[in-house]
Amino acid sequence: MSRRTKIYEGKAKILYEGPEPGTLIQYFKDDATAFNAEKKGTINGKGVINNRISEHVFTRLGHIGIPTHFIRRLNMREQLIRQVEIIPLEVVLRNVAAGSLSKRLGIEEGEPLPHTLIEYYYKDDALGDPLVAEEHIACFNWCSNEEMHDISSMAIRINDFLCGMFAAIDIRLVDFKLEFGRLYDGDYSRVILADEISPDGCRLWDMATGEKLDKDRFRRDLGGEEEAYREVARRLGLLNNEDTGPGEVFDLSHARSRLRGPPPLKK
Ligand code: 5GP
Repeated sequence: MSRRTKIYEGKAKILYEGPEPGTLIQYFKDDATAFNAEKKGTINGKGVINNRISEHVFTRLGHIGIPTHFIRRLNMREQLIRQVEIIPLEVVLRNVAAGSLSKRLGIEEGEPLPHTLIEYYYKDDALGDPLVAEEHIACFNWCSNEEMHDISSMAIRINDFLCGMFAAIDIRLVDFKLEFGRLYDGDYSRVILADEISPDGCRLWDMATGEKLDKDRFRRDLGGEEEAYREVARRLGLLNNEDTGPGEVFDLSHARSRLRGPPPLKK
């Protein structure tokens, strides 16, 4: 049996050498970590769901002209992607105050922001991914001014698109994290969207109940993370209703009945 060459193993994904030069295989694990890997666990079936959700989101972003690393899904846990040089920034978009923003500035979680915030964090586990200003990015040459311009304009378009996509399934996109990479063509390179977009890196709240449908269930020991991830996939039309399984631990019946539409009028 031929063994694949592992290029990189992260907290939630593994990258293997792809079938052709310039390609990689991205494998989605069930492993979950939080607080810079101080908390570790697994969310059963997460890799399968995130592979599907990320495929869906990247495909739809491709349709509106956002260049991405996604080529195609290969199987339940793997997708074929373009190899890029990852830009060492986590780009966070925020529509509603939550998480580290609320903690840092003392703003109550759930407070809508007057306009979308873009933040940049320097990707460095040893430093705990510190928040940085555009000045730091330019000063340390993590990316060029042109690349920053491309990143911020793509990030805003992605946020607008995803806010609408999730609102259509009664989910509020509170905040999320993006990563970008350089795709080389000889000496020339352009910036494309990389990594994944899934409930691991987004805050997704049910519009009607405020229920969290994302990794905060794991981070904050709320339970029901498998069901929450499946619920997002189900609302996106990626699972059959039967696939949501029997183990529901939180009540989304209100939102579900609204999604099905009003009951038929009595004669
Ligand atoms: P916060 O800064 O409030 O912790 O996170 C803001 C948003 O970015 C959240 O949606 C969170 O899931 C995402 N995010 C920030 N850092 C990371 C990270 O290292 N990994 C993942 N998966 N998501 C992150």
